[in-house]
Amino acid sequence: MHFEMMHIQTGCGKLAGEMKKLLCLIVLASLAVSVSMTAVADMDGRVMDLLQGMTLEQKVGQMTQVNLGVIIDKDVKDRVKFDSDRFKQALHKYQVGSILNSTSRALSLDEWSEVIRSIQDAAKENDLSIPVLYGIDSIHGVTYARGSTLFPHNIGMGATRNPGMVNRVARVTAMETRAAGLRWNFDPVLDVGRNPLWSRFPETFGEDAHIGRVMGVATINGYEGDGLASPTAVASCMKHFVGYSVPENGKDRTPAYIPDIVLWEQHLPQFKAAVEAGAATIMINSASINGVPLHASKYLLSDVLRGQFGFEGLIVSDWEDVIRLHTRHRIAETPREAVRMAVEAGLDMSMVPHDFSFADHLLDLVKSGEISEQRIDRSVAIILRLKLDLGLFENPYAEEEAQANFGLPVYRQLALDAARESMTLLKNRNDVLPIPEAARVLVAGPAAMNLGPLHGSWSYTWQGDKEEAYPESTRTVYESLLEKLGSEKVSLAAGQGFDNKENYDTSRLTELAADADYIVLALGEPAYAESPGGIDDLNLPEQQKALVRAAAASGKPVILVLVEGRPRIIRDVEPLADGIILAYQPGSQGARAITDVLFGDFNPGGVLPFSYPQFTGDILPYDHGVLAAIQQLTPGKITYGGYKPQWPFGYGLSYSTFEHSKLQISRREMGKGESLEVSLVVRNTGQRGGHHAIDLFLSDLYASVSPAVRKLREFKKVYLEAGEATTVTFKLQEDDLSFVNTELQRVVEPGEFTVQVGELTGTFRYK
Ligand code: BGC
Repeated sequence: MHFEMMHIQTGCGKLAGEMKKLLCLIVLASLAVSVSMTAVADMDGRVMDLLQGMTLEQKVGQMTQVNLGVIIDKDVKDRVKFDSDRFKQALHKYQVGSILNSTSRALSLDEWSEVIRSIQDAAKENDLSIPVLYGIDSIHGVTYARGSTLFPHNIGMGATRNPGMVNRVARVTAMETRAAGLRWNFDPVLDVGRNPLWSRFPETFGEDAHIGRVMGVATINGYEGDGLASPTAVASCMKHFVGYSVPENGKDRTPAYIPDIVLWEQHLPQFKAAVEAGAATIMINSASINGVPLHASKYLLSDVLRGQFGFEGLIVSDWEDVIRLHTRHRIAETPREAVRMAVEAGLDMSMVPHDFSFADHLLDLVKSGEISEQRIDRSVAIILRLKLDLGLFENPYAEEEAQANFGLPVYRQLALDAARESMTLLKNRNDVLPIPEAARVLVAGPAAMNLGPLHGSWSYTWQGDKEEAYPESTRTVYESLLEKLGSEKVSLAAGQGFDNKENYDTSRLTELAADADYIVLALGEPAYAESPGGIDDLNLPEQQKALVRAAAASGKPVILVLVEGRPRIIRDVEPLADGIILAYQPGSQGARAITDVLFGDFNPGGVLPFSYPQFTGDILPYDHGVLAAIQQLTPGKITYGGYKPQWPFGYGLSYSTFEHSKLQISRREMGKGESLEVSLVVRNTGQRGGHHAIDLFLSDLYASVSPAVRKLREFKKVYLEAGEATTVTFKLQEDDLSFVNTELQRVVEPGEFTVQVGELTGTFRYK
């Protein structure tokens, strides 16, 4: 049956006109049934026409994605110069379906326009003129376009608790990406950040699956909401499916061991929600779960993602990850076998990305009958469908209407708003902050004079650490303070380059402190991306802590501004600081946002999207199991102090105070299919207006799987003027009460539940 169908399908091209079409329809329809793929059944005539006219070589070409580096002369740095042999090889011989990435730098819009034009013109010369789908990483704004706006990384966006803001940021990112002629964005990251050692922690929305899900969907709607054909949209690519973020040893691209219950509770819901939101594409996790590389997991790619979640979009590999089934994971004895495994598991496109081996092996596998042509058709149809949806067949170039949306001044304001809302005030002893404008300020620390730390990964370069790549207009923390206060009132004990000795010169710090009223220490991390950002120690490096000690010894008030993508432990120097602002990686307006918070031009309202650990050996997320809260430190005596972070999940101060009262639960009992409302009154009892995030937690008191202490189920954000009050209402659905049981079913069990909002609690029963 398998072979017979393949034979008819291959023969389609030989039959004439309507007859041919009819027969092919029957073949494709029966194929759809045999592989339970609605995507194939839904294929419209255009896709089918194309598919019918394609050779096997063209089909495997469509499934191949190569890096831009493959077709350019990499020795030429100041412009994009194609290597004519390799250009022809990619675009004419192999007719690759997709190209990704930039050169090692951000290109101007004109350069992008030219690159895209050359590639698409070449594609047009081929039979069928199938355009190339260009993919890029614009994960906090457009990484690789000169003059683009860069926003805070997701970890800061998680602190805003503002999905509307996340959505607006994604819309602008989509517009600026599309303006460059790029229509496929490898974002959002839906990995849940539960291991702060992991170098991609800043790319996550934090440790909570619910926040990740809500923000992920807001991002996808921002990218795709206008319809993929619109010049304001890009195809999103949720990633990295799945379980990438919890490597056992904390290092990027290393094995994770995840119990099924945890996989379904913590890691899969975001992807399911993203599929339901209509995400066009998905990228696969480079690593492995329980020893099985995701790129070879038929269960997760085909049974779960396609079958259970109903995903009909494009499944792309991550960087080089097909061949790595052989070279790194060692589950495939040969590169050819690696290709067979990945395609059988369900992959549609391989980010090869350095050569054409994937196409060669796949061609051979189909010719030898090891992979059926129907299987290939299914992927090619999905790829063609996406290209059609994106309007690439009509106009594959950078569209003029799209280009008009690049670099608008309002984007800078949005970047500032986002950065401000992310700022999280962790400490304000004796209301040391805001600093009075008349004060003289000494600025020091490795993040004071460098843009890399403010931006993190994917910022004009992959690592984000090339200071010269940042636009002239971007300010460091020092420069921003200088603009605010003038040179008379700001002194500096720091230099350019994160590792510059001047940044750690405690004698100079002590000397300059004598003439300052306040000391602002911009500490944290340099820019890093992916595996090179790995660390062995979560502690803030000693030489930075020495700065805190020296500053405190001066007797002047010390403010720490933590510019870091993951929580670096500061337990021993925390008592020495009077004020602490966590700035995360706030992007191009980050320095201004920090200044605004330091001087009270903006009242901070960010709240932690993770538990800020106090000890390297005690990393526990807020929604740990009830048992983890129990400690027996002395024989025969237990305490409930197991969760002891430096600052808990959801923590964040304001220059105002907010009071919660009148918690009401609309019913004492909730039955099957019912919902209930939780409301409370929130009042700004302080002296100034401010944003206030409200997290609602639910605790299932007894369950057949030992329950979590609490789980975030809803969050909202309000802005209240001084003295203003409002009623905030949440609606809880049955699903909010659910958990994954040992049969891996999401269930709700009868019993008592506790609702917690701030310091208020209430209870209800589920019958
Ligand atoms: C990363 C992906 C990224 C891809 C393309 C990989 O190394 O893991 O997140 O989308 O490169 O740049």
